[in-house]
Amino acid sequence: MTDSEVPKQELEEMTHKELREEWEEIVEQIRGNIPSDTHRDKLSERRRKLWSKMDSRVDIEPPACHECGHKSWSQQMGDAKICSGCGTSLGSEDIDLIKDIDNYWETVLAGGKANA
Ligand SMILES: [Zn+2]
Repeated sequence: MTDSEVPKQELEEMTHKELREEWEEIVEQIRGNIPSDTHRDKLSERRRKLWSKMDSRVDIEPPACHECGHKSWSQQMGDAKICSGCGTSLGSEDIDLIKDIDNYWETVLAGGKANA
């Protein structure tokens, strides 16, 4: 048994549910103890691919950073959201933007808006 193998199912053939379940599994693994940085990098890459596949199937764009216009955000558990473009971290004065990002994330994870 090795835990260093990341499953390589073809993204195109996966349903939204499968994509989301694998994405959630990887998020859990990254939060937990990872044996090596190499493994973490592989997981992060797979997580990014799963996310872009889910994102490409959903008709929603992430909100843009008001500092640099970048549309990519990251967040560690319990920390502030951070712009992947310029590193700006969002605080209480950015509450509207934070809500928009949360809405975007939730929509992608849900596989689209609920029968809007
Ligand atoms: Zn930015």
